[in-house]
Amino acid sequence: MALPWQAEEAPDPRLLVLNEPLAAELGMDPGFLRGSEGLLLLIGNLVPSGATPVAQAYAGHQFGGFAPRLGDGRALLLGEIVDADGHLRDVHLKGSGRTPFARGGDGLAAVGPMLREYIVSEAMHALGIPTTRSLAVVATGRPVRRETQLPGAVLTRVASSHLRVGSFQYARATGDLNLLRRLADHAITRHYAGAAEAEHPYLALFQGVIAAQASLVAQWMLVGFVHGVMNTDNMTISGETIDYGPCAFMEAFDPATVYSSIDEGGRYAYGNQPVMAEWNLTRLAEALLPLFHDEQEQAVAFAVESLGAFRRQYSAAWSAGMRAKLGLHDGLGDDVTSPLVDELLTLLQEGQVDYTSFFRSLGMAVRGHAEPVRGLFVDPAAFDAWAERWRGFGPDADMMDRVNPVYIPRNHLVEEALAAATGGDLDPLERLLDAVTAPCDERPGLERYAAAAPEGFGAYRTFCGT
Ligand code: AMP
Ligand code: MG
Repeated sequence: MALPWQAEEAPDPRLLVLNEPLAAELGMDPGFLRGSEGLLLLIGNLVPSGATPVAQAYAGHQFGGFAPRLGDGRALLLGEIVDADGHLRDVHLKGSGRTPFARGGDGLAAVGPMLREYIVSEAMHALGIPTTRSLAVVATGRPVRRETQLPGAVLTRVASSHLRVGSFQYARATGDLNLLRRLADHAITRHYAGAAEAEHPYLALFQGVIAAQASLVAQWMLVGFVHGVMNTDNMTISGETIDYGPCAFMEAFDPATVYSSIDEGGRYAYGNQPVMAEWNLTRLAEALLPLFHDEQEQAVAFAVESLGAFRRQYSAAWSAGMRAKLGLHDGLGDDVTSPLVDELLTLLQEGQVDYTSFFRSLGMAVRGHAEPVRGLFVDPAAFDAWAERWRGFGPDADMMDRVNPVYIPRNHLVEEALAAATGGDLDPLERLLDAVTAPCDERPGLERYAAAAPEGFGAYRTFCGT
C-alpha cells in the first residue's frame, strides 16, 4: 500500500516559517532545522540513513463518486518518529513532486495554499481541536503553474498517522482480506489499543473511529469551521482534522455556508458536515464488513448498530460544547438548553450575525457590557428577550472566555497574509499566527484580528487541489 519514492530536488530552498514548539515536541533542534542541512531534511532532499520515504496508496469517495486509486500524488511520508511523549508521529511532505499516484497533476504546491494549511491547522490546534500539525513551509525556488505562475513550496506536516477511511477502501477494493486485516491490526495498534482486548476487535476499532469523528465534527461545528472537502480520503482513522484545502471559518451564521468553488450542490456546507461524516463512516463500515463477521447479514447488523451511536455521540458533544459557549453549567438538562440554543441560532441566522464575535461579546454582557453584543443585531429587541432568559440561568463569563475565541483565521486576514507572503513579505503572516495561536487570550493592539471582514471583501471563495 506504499511505494518507496524520492522528493524532487528544490533548486533554491528558503525557510518561510518554522514551528519551533512543535519541533521541540518532536525532539528536533530548531537551530539545526533553520540551517542548510535542516532545510534539506524538511523537504526530503536529505533523507536520514535508515529512512525510506514512501507515497501511500488510498482510494476515496470524492463528492460521492468512488475513485479506486488516489494516493499521495504530490505527497510523501518521510517516516515515523517517536515524540517527546513517546507517541509515534508521521512526518510527511506535501508539494514534494510527482509520484506514481500523480495522475494528471504536477505534484507541486504553491506557497499560498501551503501557508494556508499551516495557519489554519495551527489555529485549530490552538483551539484544542484534534488536527494534523504543520512543522514548516519551505519555498522551493521552483515556479508552479496555476492560473498564473506562482512560487512553489513544500509543507512539512506531522500527524499521528495518515490512515484514512480511503486507506481501508483501497485495501478492501484489492479483494485481499489479509491486507485489510493487517491494515486494521495496524490501526488498532496505533490508535485504538483497547480494541485489541474487545470481544470483536475490528468492530471496536470501527466504534472508536465513530466516537472520534463524532467528537471532532462537533468541535468543528462549535467554532464555525467548514472543512470544504470531506471526501473519504480526507477523513482520518485517528480523528484528526486533515487536508486543509478549501476550508474556511464561517462569519455570518448560516448553515448553508459553502466556500469551495467546486462544491456547487453544497454537499459539504457547514450545516451538512455531521451528515457527511456519518455518510463517510458508513463507507468505512462497508470496507470493514468482512472483518466484522463471516456471515454478511450479521456483519451488516453489527455495522448498523455501531453507526447508530454516531448521532447520539455527536449530539452529546455538540450540546455540551454549546452549553460551555453559553457559560451554562452541566447541571442544566437538554430539555432546558436545547430550545434556548435553537432560538439563538435562529436569531443569529436571521440577523446574519458574526458567529465568533457573538459568543465572545456575549461573555462581555455578563460583565455588564451588553452594548457590543446588542450592536451585532440590527433589531436587538428579540435578542434582548432571549438574553433575559439566558441570564436567568446564571452564565459564567470566565467559562465563556475560555472556550469562545477572540481570534480565528478570518478569511480576509488569511488572504492578506498569503498575498503578502507570496510577494515576499512575511510580517502579516507572523502577526496573524501570533493572534490565532493564542485564540482566547484577548490582547490590546490586535483589534483588527477580532473584527469581521470589511463590507468590500464580498463573498468568499476557496479552491481545491491548489
Ligand atoms: P485533495 O483534494 O487535495 O485531497 O487531493 C485529492 C487527490 O489528488 C490526492 O490523491 C492528491 O494526491 C491528488 N492531487 C492533488 N493535487 C495534486 C497535484 N498538484 N499533483 C498531483 N496530485 C495531486
Ligand atoms: Mg486529500
